[in-house]
Amino acid sequence: MDTKLLDKIAALKLERRAVILAHNYQPDEIQDLADFAGDSLGLSIQASQTEADVIVFCGVRFMAETAVILSPDKTVLMPEPTAGCPMADMITAEQLRDLKSQHPDALVVCYVNSTAEVKAESDYCCTSANAVEVVRSLPAGKKILFVPDQHLGRFVQEQTGRDMVLWPGYCSTHVFIGADDVKEARRSNPEAVVLAHPECSEPVKDLADELLSTGQMLKFVETSSVKQFIIATEIGIIHPLKKVRPDAEFIPASLRGVCPNMKKTTLDKLLAALENLQYEVTVPPEIAAKARRSLDRMVEVLP
Ligand code: SF4
Repeated sequence: MDTKLLDKIAALKLERRAVILAHNYQPDEIQDLADFAGDSLGLSIQASQTEADVIVFCGVRFMAETAVILSPDKTVLMPEPTAGCPMADMITAEQLRDLKSQHPDALVVCYVNSTAEVKAESDYCCTSANAVEVVRSLPAGKKILFVPDQHLGRFVQEQTGRDMVLWPGYCSTHVFIGADDVKEARRSNPEAVVLAHPECSEPVKDLADELLSTGQMLKFVETSSVKQFIIATEIGIIHPLKKVRPDAEFIPASLRGVCPNMKKTTLDKLLAALENLQYEVTVPPEIAAKARRSLDRMVEVLP
């Protein structure tokens, strides 16, 4: 580890009155130096409550946009401006408007993995940590349009029994984790408990013992007496899981569960972000004002 680089980042962070937020899928060294590392819900809450002047968001674009909307008076930076989320780009605001016109009485719930424009067209936003609770809180009998992740949507539909129309989006990383991978990992580790993210495909979820967001996985292993876990989500989560339970073994269901966008952040880029105050993320005020309603509802409904 380059301690000079780390010292420079620490000094600039103080000078800029900056806070560093990192998602659980970020590279290990980025998570280690972040002021807060967590899942989308935890990071959104941190972004909405911070007293720092600058938020350096180590994640993907929709997360930084969410921080801009929740903290409009802060400067929000992304160390790597091309880090996007393919799932978020699987529905446009125009496509959502079209869907709404086909179901005029329905409520729209969007997964936080969506663009600011799509959030502005939505009634409620949710993360994988509170999607079930958000949908349960909606008036009974109302049809729900759920975008963009069909897999999270199906999980919520099963949990709540609600009438839901699911947009056919998906995570282009979680689809690489196959049911055969999980079966093989189980064969080799018959005592292990399988934890899968709701973004996984249905055959993978059917094999899981628990379906949890990354934040929920951390809480689950902390209080579990199990010594071996098979993890079916992006492999970055294994780093914080090991910190929480150094005595346990965490086996990735598949080494192909790597999000290339999440891995674009490096320490050098983080330093450059603080030095040059780059790359600032902005959201047009009229979009931000509309998206804020759905996001406020998201951070109010805690699992
Ligand atoms: S892991 Fe999937 S949903 Fe998360 S940022 Fe990467 S592509 Fe998007």
